[in-house]
Amino acid sequence: MLYYADHFTLPLPEGHRFPMAKYARLRDRLRASGMFAPEAFRVPEAASDVEITRAHCPRYLERMELGAMSHAEMKAIGFPWSRAMVERSRRSSGATLAACREALCNGWAANLAGGTHHAFRDRGEGYCVFNDAAIAARAMQAQAGLSRVAILDCDVHQGNGTASIFAGDDSVFTFSIHGAKNFPFDKQKSDLDIELADGTGDDEYLRHLERGLGEALERSRPQLAIYLAGADPYEDDRLGRLKLTKAGLARRDRHVLATLRERGIPVAIAMAGGYGRNLDDTVEIHATTVLAARDLWHHSIP
Ligand SMILES: [Zn+2]
Repeated sequence: MLYYADHFTLPLPEGHRFPMAKYARLRDRLRASGMFAPEAFRVPEAASDVEITRAHCPRYLERMELGAMSHAEMKAIGFPWSRAMVERSRRSSGATLAACREALCNGWAANLAGGTHHAFRDRGEGYCVFNDAAIAARAMQAQAGLSRVAILDCDVHQGNGTASIFAGDDSVFTFSIHGAKNFPFDKQKSDLDIELADGTGDDEYLRHLERGLGEALERSRPQLAIYLAGADPYEDDRLGRLKLTKAGLARRDRHVLATLRERGIPVAIAMAGGYGRNLDDTVEIHATTVLAARDLWHHSIP
């Protein structure tokens, strides 16, 4: 199943640099691929207050709901506050949550957005309001009785919010492979961090990833993985600073997904970042991730 909420549009001021259009384009591209039945595309429920406050403090949710955030707090997030923004953030968290639930039944599912890993317990930053992976991991522990979840974050930026939310919690393992010199500049401590130098290319990236993923899975023995398949390690990304090619990113996805598949670990995939100079590149990289999962689990998905 593929969960999308791209019709919950976020009104952005003229000239805003966030590539909001990529989500609808990704859905259109996957539809046009002919690899998914129309009913495989689903609109998720919004994450509830109970679900959100397992990962965020109630006061933060309340202030976000009321639009009572300060100018500085919204500036750190990077979006102007609106009702639509809150609704979209709730739906996107609901999408990762639904993808987790589906993955437990069928091996995998994807949120065609999500990966808002810079959201902390009591604040957001870097285009992230609620932390979808944290909300989903907590929901699966509360609702599906899971005791061990791994969050595998291959977005080029560190999953600082996720690391902070689960600091000192052995039941959710946080792995992040990211650019050492990239945002966020004040890094948090994940259970396993791999920091890469500017300009890192395919082969070196994949060597680090293979080692890190192996260690992450050995240490966490997860019953469910949430994979943040950021498109921003791409060489022509505006915010990436690494030098992965499209072929390298496809190898990354195949390595992560095939490893999980071989070990019988269900996976919910979130798209996370992607700021290609050419939006088509970002959309293609995200689509390739979803198609790789479909290919690996093809016998069990419509
Ligand atoms: Zn990113």
